[in-house]
Amino acid sequence: PRSVLWLRRDLRLQDHPALVAAADAAPEVVALHVLDPAELASYGANRRAYLAASLRALDEQLGGRLVVRSGPPEEVVPAVVREAGAGSVHVSADTTPAGRARDERVAAALPVPLVPTGSPYAVGPGRVLTGQGTPYQVFTPFLRAWAAHGWAPPAPSVEPRWAQLPGEGLPEAAATIELPEAGEQAALARWEEFREGALADYPVDRDRPDRAGTSYLSIALACGEIHPRTLLAGLADADVPDEAAARFRAELAWREFHADVLWHRPEALTEPLREEYARMEHDEPGAAFDAWCAGRTGFPLVDAGMRQLVATGWMHNRVRMVTASFLVKDLHVHWSHGARFFLEHLLDADVAQNQLNWQWVAGCGADAAPWFRIFNPTAQQRRFDPDDRYVRRWIPELGTADYPEPVVDHAEARREALARRERMTP
Ligand code: FAD
Repeated sequence: PRSVLWLRRDLRLQDHPALVAAADAAPEVVALHVLDPAELASYGANRRAYLAASLRALDEQLGGRLVVRSGPPEEVVPAVVREAGAGSVHVSADTTPAGRARDERVAAALPVPLVPTGSPYAVGPGRVLTGQGTPYQVFTPFLRAWAAHGWAPPAPSVEPRWAQLPGEGLPEAAATIELPEAGEQAALARWEEFREGALADYPVDRDRPDRAGTSYLSIALACGEIHPRTLLAGLADADVPDEAAARFRAELAWREFHADVLWHRPEALTEPLREEYARMEHDEPGAAFDAWCAGRTGFPLVDAGMRQLVATGWMHNRVRMVTASFLVKDLHVHWSHGARFFLEHLLDADVAQNQLNWQWVAGCGADAAPWFRIFNPTAQQRRFDPDDRYVRRWIPELGTADYPEPVVDHAEARREALARRERMTP
């Protein structure tokens, strides 16, 4: 007897409840990954290359037994089940709107049960509710209730016998940038290094793009190469000030909050959570938008961030906020254009985190920054990159005639943003 472990955004072997369930169900497990053309089409080229590298690392851990097949999952998964004679298919729940729809289609097409165990979150989306049984709209009370709800300890390690089935071989996908090391082992090593190093100073350094002050684990979390439960357990016995552990825990909770909001409000991928924002006037993306994408707006912190994004597939969180705010409030372009560009380039691209962070910046999210709080990109640079180390790293021509003049006057753009907000009020 066999079971199938269909791996999606959970490309790891440790702390993996669905793997435990698959091994409990049968002594021999088929490790399957499906290259779904519809899903891959939503990935940028470098994200596809990172996925290929992560699959390669996983296949090595499995002694070459990862079965890779291409096609629509509702066709591929039932075919593998028949071929393997499997009695069940095990997955980590995918709680995104597209993932939920796909899993419903696959479950309907399968001759055996599709069994979800666990999710990419410490607390499954939809589980943290107010006393009235309603979802939380605001982060801070969610954080309190989420911590009070608590989570399971990391799942035990299991080593089933991995079934050998023909596959089509691992995908090849070339990156246009230098990718960080992929795979579970690299993620665990990165976490240990951060826990013993930068974590102690995280409350201050997390806001400094000129320092290596953050964990850089978002890519591994997005692919499920490491589970947040592993991080939460490791935080509990880290030798750092309580404030540092609490701050890092709160950032993980933001990730869980956004997944929870999206669970209850799938329309948040495209629609403003604050409905009145549907009336905000926007400019069509034109030359200024192109300058934003290219890192040539003439505002160094914005340009450095956009260049870091395109060159590395990652951008520092503080700078994501500044670049996003600049697009929406200085260039008056709808957040969805920026969100699309981010998804194309981010290796940690995650629709829940990306769309809801954009909504937060654009003032239309559930618990959003108020519209009138408009980042001044120059003041942000002085405060968070005081020695210009970050901007100089990404803009070698800074201070020369080759660096563009500012595309807008910030004070004027700010007044216009406030006027548009005023006109939005009926
Ligand atoms: P750390 O500071 O080490 O934080 C640890 C973890 O906490 C992160 O890996 C992440 O999982 C979580 N986290 C931290 N900040 C946030 C946040 N604001 N919202 C949700 N989770 C958070 N993050 C993504 O994972 N994917 C995205 O597509 C994405 N798009 C974003 C778009 C915008 C406009 C903004 C402002 C933020 C976005 N973020 C996104 C959130 C955040 O910028 C990244 O998670 C963070 O920069 C990743 O770096 P790190 O792992 O070193 O973070």
